[in-house]
Amino acid sequence: MDKTILITGGSRGIGAATALLAAQKGYQVCINYWKSKDAALKIVDCINQQGGKSAAFQADVSSETQVIALFEAVDRLGSLSALVNNVGILEKQMRVEEMAAERLQRIFNHNILSCFLCTKEAIKRMSTRYGGMGGAIVNVSSIAARTGAPGEYVDYATSKGAMDTFTLGVAKEVAAEGIRVNGVRPAFIYTDIHASGGEPGRVDRIKDTIPMKRGGKVEEVAQAILWLLSEEASYCTGTFIDISGGK
Ligand code: NAP
Repeated sequence: MDKTILITGGSRGIGAATALLAAQKGYQVCINYWKSKDAALKIVDCINQQGGKSAAFQADVSSETQVIALFEAVDRLGSLSALVNNVGILEKQMRVEEMAAERLQRIFNHNILSCFLCTKEAIKRMSTRYGGMGGAIVNVSSIAARTGAPGEYVDYATSKGAMDTFTLGVAKEVAAEGIRVNGVRPAFIYTDIHASGGEPGRVDRIKDTIPMKRGGKVEEVAQAILWLLSEEASYCTGTFIDISGGK
């Protein structure tokens, strides 16, 4: 197989849907997970049983040493052509003045430091500057980068704003080296992330405020990610697709 993709946080939610779709599109799929080994192995089995090629790799992508080891493990499988920086966490809804410094550190480490660390490693492998064959990167941001998520998680929204700025900057930095870097900005997608924010039913609570009057499916995000990675998006870099029902 000549197309190898690494999806961070591919064990559940949007990452898992992206892994399944990437396999259908002919990628060899490397799934990174942190705590959900069984869920990651389920996705791997599903892909391999359908004739695809997939493997799972445990790593906390907010740790530089673990990220380096992750990319070295992926190297042993194939030459990386696509990266999806999908990992993102949020914590319990609260106002800014209640947020402890330790929480802020966790949010920024998981959501934006991880993105820097993984992108660094991908550039070293993909860039024609270092003898690579080029590639494509998609960063999974959020429309919270535009709204700021007041009263819920301004910290999370801030990390996603940083991710968008990172996408713009790095896209231009590596544009002449065969690497495209784009972002998707989902919102209101049915996954477990809302439970970690303390409100599992959040999407249904607010769906009437969404112009399309419904929440989104993980597959709808995966389709946009795979399109941005594909040759069909060959002239797109430093750009974003909002997947938020019109919000
Ligand atoms: P999710 O269902 O909570 O899944 C999160 C995934 O990230 C899991 O696979 C988890 O792995 C992994 N993960 C978390 N921290 C990690 C770490 N340090 N190292 C490696 N893996 C880690 O979340 P989701 O809703 O699919 O969200 C995916 C992305 O979409 C996030 O960036 C999120 O901010 C963004 N997003 C989601 C929505 C939405 O409505 N769902 C809206 C806007 C943006 P383990 O379970 O193995 O630990």
